[in-house]
Amino acid sequence: MSEQYRDRLGQWTFDEATGDNVCPATIRGLDHLRNPCLNKGMAFTLEERQVLGIHGLIPPRFKTQDEQLELCRLNVERYPEDLNKYIYLMGLQDRNERLFYRFLSENVEQLMPIVYTPTVGLACQKYGLIYRRPRGLFITIHDRGHVYDVLRNWPESDVRAVVVTDGERILGLGDLGAYGMGIPVGKLALYTALAGIKPHQCLPITLDVGTNTQTLLDDPLYIGLRHKRITGADYDDFIDEFMRAVVKRYGQNTLIQFEDFGNHNAFRLLDKYREKYCTFNDDIQGTASVAVAGLLASLRITDTRLSDNIILFQGAGEASLGIAQLCVMAMQAEGTSIEDARDKIWMVDSKGLIVKDRPEGGVTGHKVHYARNHTPIKNLKDVIREAKPSVIIGAAAVGGVFTPEILRDMASFNKRPIVFALSNPTTKAECTAEAAYTNTDGKCVFASGSPFLPVKYKGQIFFPGQGNNSYIFPGVALGVICTGIRHISDEIFLIAAQALAALVSEEDLDRGSLYPPLNTIQKCSLKIAVKVAEYAYEHGKLHVKLLLDILMGINGPYCMQDISLNIIQ
Ligand code: NAD
Repeated sequence: MSEQYRDRLGQWTFDEATGDNVCPATIRGLDHLRNPCLNKGMAFTLEERQVLGIHGLIPPRFKTQDEQLELCRLNVERYPEDLNKYIYLMGLQDRNERLFYRFLSENVEQLMPIVYTPTVGLACQKYGLIYRRPRGLFITIHDRGHVYDVLRNWPESDVRAVVVTDGERILGLGDLGAYGMGIPVGKLALYTALAGIKPHQCLPITLDVGTNTQTLLDDPLYIGLRHKRITGADYDDFIDEFMRAVVKRYGQNTLIQFEDFGNHNAFRLLDKYREKYCTFNDDIQGTASVAVAGLLASLRITDTRLSDNIILFQGAGEASLGIAQLCVMAMQAEGTSIEDARDKIWMVDSKGLIVKDRPEGGVTGHKVHYARNHTPIKNLKDVIREAKPSVIIGAAAVGGVFTPEILRDMASFNKRPIVFALSNPTTKAECTAEAAYTNTDGKCVFASGSPFLPVKYKGQIFFPGQGNNSYIFPGVALGVICTGIRHISDEIFLIAAQALAALVSEEDLDRGSLYPPLNTIQKCSLKIAVKVAEYAYEHGKLHVKLLLDILMGINGPYCMQDISLNIIQ
């Protein structure tokens, strides 16, 4: 039996001296089948079955993992509905972790849309119905004063990454409260499947402060607190306590990824914590990175610099403002001044074009950087006719808002219009891939947030790329964890974008895709992690103890050795 195998046991005791939950040295019997970290199902050999005391508890046949994978494939194919596929996969994760991760990592294209967007959105909406076993930690606002104690209940002492949500803005689906747990669970499954970060080093957390969605409060199946969201100082104190408790329990280097917080909290909390903790907000920074990667790749089609483009955003929330900020950084890297870079950006929110001194719906927060000296315009079509953008990016969760008319306009003033329909899930996309190609006579360069099938138009087949954050966050996380970076700057997300764009081949572009094929996504994660590690090394941000761990091959994610080789080469 391997060392890891002996370590990952099912029963834990609390060690007062270290403050850790520790496992006893040996365990026998049924726990080896019940604990998903230990269970190998029918792959246990005869010797293992006898030594572990499970002989007779499973059928007599021995099955290799490959044979088990075939069974998984058959099972997934058996379910016509994606939600049932999701339930099957979560069941597999609960039963046999290794099999689950191998299955997922070898079938990314087919399974990522199930464990992640779009199906995860549906799963979150039905979480009360499909919830089986805890895959993460629920901490409620009523745990204030005891958040550390709740964290201590988590039976792993070597957590390196936490993905946390308060469920207020799940994808484009709004406030799902405690049902949001599907998101951190799904994201962390991708940490392992796409970047090789060990599952027990990943901790999904939902902070339940209530929900403002009345249908959930009335839903007999709802699993969260049955009251409206608690806000203000109580909310802030709770989040503060949570951040301190994570550091106390798992150390200052623990990566804390914020997911699907409401817009008003997302920016505030990022600004508040980014210099104090090892943290990033995927909806703002991860989205920015993947979108800018797509834009950088598109420049090879349009033969322009980013600074030569006019970029119009439909929506001025976390996604749009994050992308805009990183676009400005990328333009600055081309030698453009910050003022000129911001001037290339037009932004439309629910009140229309964002302009200075807007009479209806003032302009606050990060939006002020993009407020133009212009008369107000309400309608998106009119803004587009006025701005004549070369790029339109939709991230307002208003499905179908890139109408055929708007797409035809884009094609009338651009040789190759760039259209990103980023809103999730698929029903919220600003336009379908088919609408984008057909209404621009096949000229448009299209990317989306949710996956779309290839489109045949006038004899040509287009393979639209998915601007999926999972091209970015697992690689960034791997790089950050391996190098022990304390604070994650926006520069890291620009580096990640450039690294991803560089992986887009001419063939990909010819197929109509601004991203590398999804089945190469693990390679993308590793490449990004290496770039992050090089950045940390060059900027003196490498944590020496962690580097020694890497070089000695102990501890940490599966891919550490690969990264260490790249650093020392
Ligand atoms: P958010 O709530 O922070 O922002 C939404 C924005 O849309 C707000 O500025 C709001 O004013 C604006 N809006 C609402 N109605 C509008 C209307 N009728 N016209 C114009 N603007 C309007 O949300 P977010 O985090 O920015 O996410 C928005 C969408 O983008 C979601 O569907 C999300 O799933 C998607 N998204 C996709 C990706 C990706 O594809 N990689 C990443 C992140 C977010």
